[in-house]
Amino acid sequence: MDIRFTADELAFRDELRSWLGAVLPTLGDPPERDDWPGRREWDTGWQQMLYEAGYAGINWPSEFGGRGSTPTEHLIFLEETTRMGAPYVGMNFVAQLHAGPTLILEATAEQQARHLPAMLRGDEVWCQGFSEPNAGSDLASLSTRAVRDRDHYVVTGQKIWTSFGHVADYCELLVRTDPEAPKHRGITWLICPMDLPGIEVRPIATVAGSSEFCEVFFDEVRIPVANRVGDENDGWRVAMVTFSFERGTAFISELLGTMNQLAEMAEMARKSSRNGSTAWHSAWEDDEIRREIGRLQAEYDALWALTKRVVSQAQRTGMPGPGGSVFKLYYADVKKRMADLAHRLLEREALVLAEGGDEQTGGDMAASRLYVLSLSIAAGTSEIQRNIIGERILGLPKDR
Ligand SMILES: Cc1cc2nc3c(=O)[nH]c(=O)nc-3n(C[C@H](O)[C@H](O)[C@H](O)COP(=O)(O)OP(=O)(O)OC[C@H]3O[C@@H](n4cnc5c(N)ncnc54)[C@H](O)[C@@H]3O)c2cc1C
Repeated sequence: MDIRFTADELAFRDELRSWLGAVLPTLGDPPERDDWPGRREWDTGWQQMLYEAGYAGINWPSEFGGRGSTPTEHLIFLEETTRMGAPYVGMNFVAQLHAGPTLILEATAEQQARHLPAMLRGDEVWCQGFSEPNAGSDLASLSTRAVRDRDHYVVTGQKIWTSFGHVADYCELLVRTDPEAPKHRGITWLICPMDLPGIEVRPIATVAGSSEFCEVFFDEVRIPVANRVGDENDGWRVAMVTFSFERGTAFISELLGTMNQLAEMAEMARKSSRNGSTAWHSAWEDDEIRREIGRLQAEYDALWALTKRVVSQAQRTGMPGPGGSVFKLYYADVKKRMADLAHRLLEREALVLAEGGDEQTGGDMAASRLYVLSLSIAAGTSEIQRNIIGERILGLPKDR
């Protein structure tokens, strides 16, 4: 990929900058963490603004209502929106980052026409119903059962860790349609409306005190066969398409936000004062701290270079490759080390700030120490990413 900007790309960047400059000041303050109606309005409202300005689905093909941008424009979009502090996809992330892309590749024309424009407009919030109490890393062991009854599947079982399940309109749902077949061959991918009779959603509180996770219970829920994506019992293959987007490109904006945070951390180190053996000094005077910040910056630069490769490959082949697993594995580790460093810089203050400090005081850095723990679990644990890298990139024997 040629990363020098063409005249068209520079024009795209300038147009985007001026649009962001005009709309961001009108947004006001984001809602509180557990104000779910407020958060839904905020996240879907931003999606609607992107849609009206022609920036929704920046890398989705134009025949599906996206902008059909080049990989470079996609990266410019991510860089500029992050740099200017635009809202992130928020609770639109399943629809925008993996359910939508899966429908683009795998769904029928009717399913695409029904859902893709609504996702882009922010009219539909989606969640992911993959994990179960006994099927996480070994997802193919899932047991939520779907029994065919003429033109419906009757679904009974339980999902867990369903992010935003309590606010979602639709769920990308994996069910077992053939319990006799080998486990990877008896699974089906369904579009499940979350308001169907028989669905019960119970929020779960996290260690960080928020409640975006849910358990979702299905009791003889009737889902039309017309909502099936791909063939019956071919859902594992469709789920791998979903994962390639979830692991491949869904974390890119996060990386850019983190890079901004590292610059803030360097600033914080300069301003901090510590009582050394002889006199007060700033943390920045500590060689080890400076070395750690420099190393983190170099690692993020390397991840950004890898991102460019993954995005450009995804655009060429239609789907991100296993490079996304390398990104996710490494990003989860670097981000954890960065949160540790933030706690060392903030010292005792970190404990107080994590409870309610804001961006200026370093509160978001302090709070992120709990959040980063989830990065090595969500979308497949770090051990599972290592297995994928071993098998699909290094050609090692398969995990038993
Ligand atoms: C922030 C966050 C958001 C999430 N959102 C969703 C969501 O919206 N929808 C959804 O369906 N799920 C969601 N999940 C669930 C997530 O996909 C699972 O937690 C994850 O796949 C791990 O499964 P598990 O929790 O059952 O752990 P387990 O699979 O029980 O793993 C336990 C430990 O064993 C290790 N292990 C397991 N198998 C192997 C192996 N073969 N080789 C080496 N080590 C192994 C794991 O790495 C882990 O350390 C979310 C999780 C998090 C943290």
